[in-house]
This record gives sequence, C-alpha cells and structure tokens, in this order.
Amino acid sequence: MASVLNCKASKVPFVYLGLPIGANINHKKNWKPILEKFDSVLSKWKAKVLSFGGRFTLVKSVLGSLGVYYFSLFKAPTGILKKLESKRRRFLWGGNEDNERISWVAWQKIIRDKDRGGLGVRSLKVINLALLAKWWSRYKNELATCKSLLAGLEMKDKPDLWLWKDVEGSEVEYRVKNLRWEMDNMKYQKVEDNFLLKCIPIKVNCFVWRLLLDRVATKEALLVRGINVGDNKCVICEAAPESALHLMVRCKVARWIWAIILEWVKLPGFNFSKSVREIIDYPAKFKMNKMECELIQAIVLVKCWEIWLTRNDMLFNKKMFSMVKVINDIKVMSFLWVCNRNKRLGIDWEKWGRFQFS
Ligand SMILES: [Zn+2]
Repeated sequence: MASVLNCKASKVPFVYLGLPIGANINHKKNWKPILEKFDSVLSKWKAKVLSFGGRFTLVKSVLGSLGVYYFSLFKAPTGILKKLESKRRRFLWGGNEDNERISWVAWQKIIRDKDRGGLGVRSLKVINLALLAKWWSRYKNELATCKSLLAGLEMKDKPDLWLWKDVEGSEVEYRVKNLRWEMDNMKYQKVEDNFLLKCIPIKVNCFVWRLLLDRVATKEALLVRGINVGDNKCVICEAAPESALHLMVRCKVARWIWAIILEWVKLPGFNFSKSVREIIDYPAKFKMNKMECELIQAIVLVKCWEIWLTRNDMLFNKKMFSMVKVINDIKVMSFLWVCNRNKRLGIDWEKWGRFQFS
C-alpha cells in the first residue's frame, strides 16, 4: 500500500508534532521528552546565576507551560508528576539533580495561589486535570455547532454551553483556569492581607514573603537546621542572636533606619517589637489615599530588602556598615523601581526626596 502511494512505510509508535502516537502513555519511558525538556531548562548555570525571583519566574512561567502540550492530551502518571515537581522545587531553591539545597518553604505552600498565602506557582497535577477537562467542554460546546449544520433540526435560542457550578453556586462557562483555580484553592483559606506589590520586583516580594514565614537564611534559622555558622550573633550590631525578627525589627540599627524612613514618608514614629508583619501593616493604619499608602508599603518592602543586602555585604564581602549608604540605597532603589513601573504617576526625584506629591 505504501509503495502504491509512494510513501515510506512506518509503524507505531512514532512521533508526530512532538507527540508520541500509538505509544502507551502510561509507561514512564514515553514521558522522557518532557523530563529532558525540564532538564534542559533547569541547567545548573541558570540556577547559579539567577536570583530567587528569577528562578521563581522561570519555574512559574516556563516550567508551568513546558508540559502543556503533553498535559492537554495525556494524563501524566503520578510518578512522572512527582519527578517533575521535584525538579521544579530543587531548581527554585538553587539546587539540581545531584545537589539538593535547603527548601525553606514547603512546595505545597509555594504552589498555592497568592490570596491563599502562596506564590501562585500552580501544581502540575491540577494543570493536567484542568487541561484534560477542557476536552469535555469542547465536546459539549462544539456539538452545538455540528448540529446547526443539520437541516431541519429544531434549535433553541439559548446558546448550548457546557456550564458548571462554581464555589458560590452560580453557573459559569467552563475555563481551564477556573477549574485549576478551584482545585488548587478548595483546601486553603483565603488570606485577606495579601501584601505582594506589582510596583516592586518579584525578588523583593518573594524575600518579604519568606521573611513573614520566618524562612530566611539567618544564622538562627541555619543553626536550627543543623548548619554550623560559627557564632549566632547579628552581623550588623553583634549584640543579639540573628533571627529574622531581630534583623528587621528589634536590632538597634533597624530601629534607627525605621525612624529615618518614617520621618521621610511623614508617618509618626513607632517602637516596633512584635513581628515583621507589624511593620508591613503599619502604613495602612493611617488615613491617606491608596496611591500614597502603596508607595509607603513599597518603601517598607524595599527597606527590608536593603537591610538584608547590607547584612550579606558585611558578612560575605567584609564591608563596613554605613547608615548613609543604607538610607540612600532605600531611597534610590524604591524610586527607580516604583516610579519606573508607574510612569503615569509623574513623580520625579525631587518630589520623591521630599515625599510630597501634590
Ligand atoms: Zn542586630
């Protein structure tokens, strides 16, 4: 037959448009191309040169969509999903197949949506199921189009859609993202005070998110995990054990920095002592317009980030502490990030320096 048609004879399984045709997709070996694709994206050097924010973006956007082609047609075996999630997790924390590094936050927490306290990375299992369910939606909805082609068939005025009930009980059209969102979130409570801000980089948001969970590599946190770091004293003041709470809230240097920043943004001083959350929530206690509140919250987040950078510079590069430099870095970096991302605000450096916008 092949010779009559002048074609080459072949047999199953074969690869067509990148997909294995005629192969038993329940066999792990048929998922090898996906595992290899993940490995090529998660190369060692990328994990080394990227910041946590960069790795997060890659894990979320690239790795999340790499398997979509396969996932929209085949149900991935549990073992494969576990392997792929493990590759994503290791990469996010800067490790690889041979070298696992500390996972400071549980993967189950990271894949939660942002309004459930996570980073919204999304689980591959849920992406897979939501994509497969899309076929049901297409079958139901496109059946109507087929029927319309048949003459003499009585049709109702109402569009024939595959509807399903969402959590609030109302009927909505099927969307992959809706089902994925509901499967992801059915287990977790909504978190009201989501501080993640679009006007500052992901790396700063991720850092503060970890700070609030007390999952930052301070000396105390490393000691708890059995890692020898020598003494446990705060790198900046050398007067107390270095925990996230000390470094950001209780350290005398952090208090001085807070006092200067609060004076700059024209908020009354406050003796913070309880938690990092207390500092983040502070600007929202005052009556001001939404824009101004968000600007101050952004500055608070940048301030936490700059304290961490200063501490690392002192510890690893043996730099001396300079209050002038820290304050300057907070003002400059917050200006560059916030104002470049919101050009319509029309804030210039002079207005920023006075923190007066009207
Ligand atoms: Zn200190």
